[in-house]
Amino acid sequence: MSGSPSMTASGDDGVVGPTLPAARCDTPSPARTVQGLPSLPGIVLLWFLPKRVGASLAASGWHAAVAAHMLSVIVGLGLIVCAELPPTFNSLVKQQFLGWDIEIDLPAPRMTCSEYVRGPFAAIAVVVHAAGPGSGGFARSLLALTGIQGAVLLLAVVMMPFAAAGEPAGRLFGRCLRLTWWSTTLLIPLGLVWWAEPQWRSWLDLPDEWHAVDSAALALFGVLWLIVLLRSGYRYAGKAQGPAWSARTPRCEKCGYRIVGLPYSTNCPECARPVAESLAERRAPPPFAVADTPVRTISAFWPTAWKVITTRDFFARLPVHSGHSRARAFFLMVCVVNWGLAFLGAWRVGTAFQAEVVLVHALADAVVVACVVLLGHVLLAAAFAGAVSAIARRALQPAAVATFYLMSSTVPITIGAVTLLVAGVTTATIVDDIATPLAVDVIMSLLLAVGLVVFAWALVRALMNARRAIVQTRFANR
Ligand SMILES: [Zn+2]
Repeated sequence: MSGSPSMTASGDDGVVGPTLPAARCDTPSPARTVQGLPSLPGIVLLWFLPKRVGASLAASGWHAAVAAHMLSVIVGLGLIVCAELPPTFNSLVKQQFLGWDIEIDLPAPRMTCSEYVRGPFAAIAVVVHAAGPGSGGFARSLLALTGIQGAVLLLAVVMMPFAAAGEPAGRLFGRCLRLTWWSTTLLIPLGLVWWAEPQWRSWLDLPDEWHAVDSAALALFGVLWLIVLLRSGYRYAGKAQGPAWSARTPRCEKCGYRIVGLPYSTNCPECARPVAESLAERRAPPPFAVADTPVRTISAFWPTAWKVITTRDFFARLPVHSGHSRARAFFLMVCVVNWGLAFLGAWRVGTAFQAEVVLVHALADAVVVACVVLLGHVLLAAAFAGAVSAIARRALQPAAVATFYLMSSTVPITIGAVTLLVAGVTTATIVDDIATPLAVDVIMSLLLAVGLVVFAWALVRALMNARRAIVQTRFANR
């Protein structure tokens, strides 16, 4: 009886077969690659088609990734430094220098094309050397460089559960690190926009000082960066090796005991759980994972989320060795829903105590809060999947699948928190107003109570679900 590629772990005569088929038996199609430095023009393609070119860039080796990263840090940061330097470096800056108003009678200096190209490099050199050895300019630059590399390492780790294709963890980390280096090329367009800031500000007739819209634009740029980074890792074009391509041993799903050769009708000798309850075919994809059109996908979201939150054995029925990309799509929908909820909550709180609401300011502030909440979600999912995988010594891909579904437990928490916030600030703004109708007071008190109950219930549920997601998928046979 060999491990047939069917989804069951069973032999024909009612005993458990010797192996479970590997989760993947396909051979990933190799990416079209350009090795080494000639791959640098791929930078621009990455910004617009991250999913398509990500695999090629990851396969183009370490040298190209490091070169692309160093070039973009120097050019991107150099352009930002140029924007803050006096007009010698940036003929677009005419009035402001480090917060001081300066009057220049001379016309803006003319720079040649080659001076423009060399500008960012010169600006970085000036910053590194300007302060001199006595005042720690070099040490500050070194510290900044260490900070950048620390952030890159963190982003690469965060990316791992999203990019996991079933390859060994070390190779996955290498791929994520190279792609994170490639993604830092987005510093170049950011630097260009920053550098040209005085110009487009005058075109758009915007004031010179930092504006709430600037924060919102920066937050949205951060989300765009995150999307480019995560999507660049969606396609895997490496070797067909790793946990996903290895056959597994059928185990008792409660205690991990090898149940090979045991009849279905018996119990696990270790923990007495019926063998039939550990069979692979007990796990079936949730509605979201089998929806085949965009409309069905959207309509399957809420039933699946409801199942995750309220069903005790959702994770005992969830196949975790397959369906990674659908689980990831589910998590992204959770992010969108929470982004919207956070935006509404922040909007209400931000506008509650202002006598005169400036629409643009309130919108921009709410966008920033919602983007921070979104980033928090991605970090939380990555941290949970990573911790489950590291502590329980499980492959990252199945840990990520369980985590992505688990994350829908945050939706009722956000609903509860937003209801509490909205009811709280509304009550606070009407508390001194004697003319407020009694009905409004009653409704607000009810909303406060509902928000508090939902929040507490959702928090307890989320913690219980997190425990179930770990326990019920630890020895999953499918
Ligand atoms: Zn057992």
